[in-house]
Amino acid sequence: MFINASDLIFGKLMLLHLVYHADYVTPLPPGHRFPMPKFGKVYETLIRNGIASVDQFYVPEIATREMLTLVHASSFVDAYLTGDIDPKIMRRIGFPWSPQLVQRTCTAVGGTVLTAQLALQHGIACNTAGGTHHAYADFGSGFCIFNDMAVATRIMQESGAVERVLIVDLDVHQGDGTAAIFADDPTVFTFSVHCASNFPFRKQKSTLDIALPDRLEDDAYLMSWTHLLPAILDDFAPDFVFYDGGVDPHHEDTLGKLCLTDDGLLRRDHYVFAQCAQRRIPVAGVIGGGYSPDVERLAARHTILHQAAGEVMRNS
Ligand SMILES: [Zn+2]
Repeated sequence: MFINASDLIFGKLMLLHLVYHADYVTPLPPGHRFPMPKFGKVYETLIRNGIASVDQFYVPEIATREMLTLVHASSFVDAYLTGDIDPKIMRRIGFPWSPQLVQRTCTAVGGTVLTAQLALQHGIACNTAGGTHHAYADFGSGFCIFNDMAVATRIMQESGAVERVLIVDLDVHQGDGTAAIFADDPTVFTFSVHCASNFPFRKQKSTLDIALPDRLEDDAYLMSWTHLLPAILDDFAPDFVFYDGGVDPHHEDTLGKLCLTDDGLLRRDHYVFAQCAQRRIPVAGVIGGGYSPDVERLAARHTILHQAAGEVMRNS
């Protein structure tokens, strides 16, 4: 069960709580451009590089239909779960339907739900998947089927654990699905900092969007939004923060058009977690997007999020 946000024991436990399930990885057809193996590699890299030990990991349960329909249209959820789904919808998602993909999708959503529970209990927690922010209420797109942060937000609100939620989305792509889901909801603040020329080409309206030009480097990137986050945290005063730390703003990313370095990503992630921790606002990190044929390098890049979260946790 959820612990009420006011009962939070922030920083009492110094180790970061992490979430992983072997079902985060499922086979795709050979040559598919989504780097599915990265999720297992993220877990392995965290252990191998000493960023975390196995006893810091929690195994999520699969998200149920009841959870998914807190956000998503029941017709869409049922069609996807059973495989009786319009091929056009699957083409927009970008994956071929399979029972294993359904298992993977629902486990990853369950992972973000568990990450949120752990963040409520311990102040900071991170998933090793999540950030499916192109998923709308009644369809998916851009490798996203169900919107994990939206589902976890609704579960926490329904349980009474939180009222106001801030979603900080620093993936290079706009969080269009998230923006649309919460467009008319004053209890959820959606903050998206993205590259203007990246997908989606038809943007939605977040509570606050920062659309950046191509090829922005570390300092200019950080200067474009770091002054805004403290004001949002103080003025909106969320009970809970989700942080999508996609690594596709990196200069080596094959899809993202920004030019951040590893150090820039570390400064970015550290800043977000520290701003939340200073205010004693629980924050759950999800890894978001990252694209590279070199899955080892990509996985290592994703673990910058966990490294930053762990450092902030220890210093809280
Ligand atoms: Zn992305």
